[in-house]
Amino acid sequence: MTTATVRVPAKINLCLGVGPVRVDGFHPLATVYQALDLHDEVRATVDDAGTLSVATRTTEEERADVPEGLDNLALEAAALLRERTGVEAGVELSIRKVIPVGGGLAGGSADAAAALVACNEVWGTGLSRHELEPLAAELGSDVPFLLHGGIAIGGGRGETVSPVLARGSYHWVLGVAAQGLSTAAVYAEFDRLTQDREVPEPEVSDALLAALRAGDAELLGQALSNDLTEAALSLRPELRSTLDLGLEAEALGAVISGSGPTCLFLASDEEHSLDIAIALAGAGACADVVQARGPVSGVRFV
Ligand code: ATP
Repeated sequence: MTTATVRVPAKINLCLGVGPVRVDGFHPLATVYQALDLHDEVRATVDDAGTLSVATRTTEEERADVPEGLDNLALEAAALLRERTGVEAGVELSIRKVIPVGGGLAGGSADAAAALVACNEVWGTGLSRHELEPLAAELGSDVPFLLHGGIAIGGGRGETVSPVLARGSYHWVLGVAAQGLSTAAVYAEFDRLTQDREVPEPEVSDALLAALRAGDAELLGQALSNDLTEAALSLRPELRSTLDLGLEAEALGAVISGSGPTCLFLASDEEHSLDIAIALAGAGACADVVQARGPVSGVRFV
């Protein structure tokens, strides 16, 4: 096959516990990921001349933020797979972006996971998902989770994923900001704010795991947490009023997604999700308001 097309979901963090910075500059994380039905699509076409190239279809506002060269995480993923497998062919990647760029939803990591799977297919390199995991981990902390999707615990710097016993399907509303936030800048702010405090080793709370085992959205709403909240709010104070708006609309829980600035609201059902979305859109607090469901599976062929 010379062309393969895959879809890859966005991720959210139901909790994001962040520990003290390690000597390698990373922070140990204890997180629970959930994949949402907000998908980027990546098409890979073999280039017999051996060239690696990428083109991205996205909104006018986001275009400048998505690199076209090897800085694009999807192309970096293709280059890594080629290097490790000794393939000589190149690939032309075409990405249709739906996941907001720089939103704390791991869009770039998602495209990297998608590119690994699509290139593995068109180059006939035949690696299993399991065999793609170490390459995914080299590319970024969120990439291994996006290969599989669903709900999983992330340890290490997020790259060691293990399954979680969970039931239920959850309704989310995403308040997307006009301008992305740099993950590095948020972690730097976290380090600045915590420099005179003892930062404990991060843990996933029993309350969160119990809520997922029970499939109880109300308990899950109460158990959502994010240790980067203070840092993200310090850089973007206006996110506080976005979170409050969702809570006024009786969201079961409100939390910043990853390093932000996307705000996440948990709803009890489809109708409640629409109520929250209307409240946010009506207040004009976000550039975009998106309703999504999770969990969904990771990278899959279309
Ligand atoms: P993180 O995974 O660090 O939480 P994020 O979800 O906040 O990131 P992304 O959408 O992944 O944000 O984009 C972060 C940066 O990664 C962008 O500003 C962009 O420069 C770079 N980038 C590289 N490749 C891609 C890609 N395929 N799609 C989007 N951004 C990309």
